[in-house]
Amino acid sequence: MIRFNAEFVASAFALDGCPRWKRAEVALAGRSNVGKSSLLNALAGVKGLARTSKTPGRTRCLNFFSVGDTLALCDLPGFGYAKMGHEEAAKIAFMMHEYIHERVNLAAIAILVDCRRGPQHDELDLAAMAAERGIEVIPVATKCDKLRRSERAAALKRFDSMRVAPIFCSATSGEGIDDLRRRILAVDRMDAAEPGPHSESNSATFDEWLKWVFDHPVAENTSDEWWWQEPDYDEGGRWLDRPPMPALAFVAKLFENPLQYLSCYSDAQINQGLDFIVSTSCSKHFHWLIDGRVDLNLRKRCIRSIEGLSRELFAPRCSDDVCKGTKPLDYICFMLWDLAIHHACHREDNPDGTYSEVRDPEIDKESVNTLARIITIPSLACQQSALHGLGHLVDDACLGANIIQKYLDDHPNLRSDIRTYAQRALLGKVQ
Ligand code: GDP
Repeated sequence: MIRFNAEFVASAFALDGCPRWKRAEVALAGRSNVGKSSLLNALAGVKGLARTSKTPGRTRCLNFFSVGDTLALCDLPGFGYAKMGHEEAAKIAFMMHEYIHERVNLAAIAILVDCRRGPQHDELDLAAMAAERGIEVIPVATKCDKLRRSERAAALKRFDSMRVAPIFCSATSGEGIDDLRRRILAVDRMDAAEPGPHSESNSATFDEWLKWVFDHPVAENTSDEWWWQEPDYDEGGRWLDRPPMPALAFVAKLFENPLQYLSCYSDAQINQGLDFIVSTSCSKHFHWLIDGRVDLNLRKRCIRSIEGLSRELFAPRCSDDVCKGTKPLDYICFMLWDLAIHHACHREDNPDGTYSEVRDPEIDKESVNTLARIITIPSLACQQSALHGLGHLVDDACLGANIIQKYLDDHPNLRSDIRTYAQRALLGKVQ
């Protein structure tokens, strides 16, 4: 059993009543009667820690529990209790909204859903609200002892809309409790590893991040780019001492719908901002793609989101010859996978003074699958970008040759320079 020392600390009825501490908080949310109190007791291994109530909706404030030295749980009021008065329900909704939108300490939210019911809009809205701020969402399927084995697959399917597979838990049988403890403690470890994750400077929203990445004049020379001028560049700039989870969630959100968020920037500004995000020599964003402390689902989602960027932004706006760079976005379209994937490895020193590159096979696999879709986009720019990435993957991870071969087979009349490039990619010889 994993150690999980939880102790009740305080209750609050508004944001300004919440504890002033530096602990990362994991919120527990769910409808009344979902089994939240029972789960909290099971996590802590203490029977009366949260009052298990047969009267739904009894807890109407935020309840804080310390866990170890650096983590805390916040038990949110159960929502959706039909017998609650309108005014009371509105008060609770406001308090939860305030907490989820503004609480700087909030690092993750476990959304509890009865496994027999699956998430409905309340839970999906909550997950969307959390994702908006880059807060990790941990779906939990409660009361799983009530499912027969044969009903598991259907129950899992009901959670598809949450994008992340739930942890099946039962306070009654104890199933999944250790997994959930582990997942919650991992939030703590991840945040603790980053300097100052809960200071005010880390409370930036998606909009602030967007402005910070893109809202700069375009530099004439590479050495004049704004990020080299940041006073605390050694720290990678103000934003980069943030925990990786919000930053990667912001990247995925942006790449999935780039037109929605980038319409006020010129293509040259977008090119510069994207270069900043994906170049591991400029920022840490893509470096975190191979950071095992960051939720794998989020890292994979980030890779997949590059398809959105390719379809919406690169396909309509890049030239048919991205290697030559005649249009502002050509550079980043061509280089993105090189910068992101070729460098997606840790260097580990060998005793003889050389070093080995250690890759993350899950990320490589997600990259190949994403590239297999991008290469089918009817845009020579996207195809060249994909060939470049695949060429590096052939060389670095022995993956992707079959996709390049299929591309060659499917395009017998390919422009000759692209055919030559694809043939070089097949051998892993791209630059
Ligand atoms: P809350 O309103 O979300 O805090 O829910 P409670 O923890 O008070 O649980 C509501 C009801 O569900 C109670 O009758 C519990 O005994 C029952 N319950 C809670 N967890 C489980 C579980 O894992 N399995 C089963 N079978 N019943 C549970």
